[in-house]
Amino acid sequence: MIELRGQMFGTMQQNFGGDTLNTAVYLARLGADGGVKVSYATQLGRDAYSEAMIEAWRKEGIDTRMVRTEEGKMPGLYTIQVDDQGERTFYYWRDMSAAKDYFVDNPSPLEAHIDELDALYYSGISLAVLPESGRERLFAIIEKLRARGGKVFFDNNFRRRLWANDPDVTHWFDRAFANADMAMITLEDNAALYGLDEESALSHAFSLSCDEVVIKRGVDPTMVRVRGFDPVMVPTFKVDKVVDTTGAGDSFAGGYLAARLQGQTPEVAARSGNKIASIVVQHPGAIIPRENMPVFFFG
Ligand code: ADP
Repeated sequence: MIELRGQMFGTMQQNFGGDTLNTAVYLARLGADGGVKVSYATQLGRDAYSEAMIEAWRKEGIDTRMVRTEEGKMPGLYTIQVDDQGERTFYYWRDMSAAKDYFVDNPSPLEAHIDELDALYYSGISLAVLPESGRERLFAIIEKLRARGGKVFFDNNFRRRLWANDPDVTHWFDRAFANADMAMITLEDNAALYGLDEESALSHAFSLSCDEVVIKRGVDPTMVRVRGFDPVMVPTFKVDKVVDTTGAGDSFAGGYLAARLQGQTPEVAARSGNKIASIVVQHPGAIIPRENMPVFFFG
């Protein structure tokens, strides 16, 4: 999506972002040296913004063969209004977003390239923006990938306003959790989604059938549960001044996946996720400049 950030009717800075895209960028940056190759699947238009985004993603080392472009479509748009106290308010224009029509033709680039993938990462926002037919196509891809040993990572990212016209929201999330090898959960999202208090949301998360469950809890220690083992608490990194938490969870996911895909344990992966997220919260915007990336090692 196109991001406009600044003061209402004042100067706004243009960028781009979106939850899975942010994760793809951090995963590409952190995984490249270890041989992790990242492809991103979405739909854009053929306008100058869409072209600039594709170019920028390529420069990040992201494979864009699965990006569909359609004449006349435009990327989604969001604004971040920052007030004098640094408080942020988000507004989204997603209705016209090209991404929701990704599965219009047969096969989509993702379906055409599915046999080249070892793993697939998507989120509750990916599910929310797709029509039901698109969600079914996604679940069919997931089934095919897992049948040949591929791994599926699902990040809950529940945004109620995206599901306003959908009474079956828990049905779709239940299916996503049931068909994931690893679930990444922001506890307050799951509490809101299932109408549970924090303690019940925690029990619910731990009872999911996925082999690996990661529970992000802001500045509080991250919890990791691997089937058959006791949960592990992984501390977050202390930050003197939090500037902007946009992209914190997405960068955590990028750091976690970069470590897991290079064979590190879930505990080391959570530390890697917490590390990159602690740096991201000290910068404005979801995607920090490359020069602010840490010299990274797992351990
Ligand atoms: P989301 O962004 O998905 O809502 P969280 O708010 O749980 O998720 O934040 C994601 C990650 O960002 C946390 O797991 C943690 O590593 C990091 N993080 C968030 N807030 C802070 C903070 N105040 N100090 C240090 N790290 C933080």
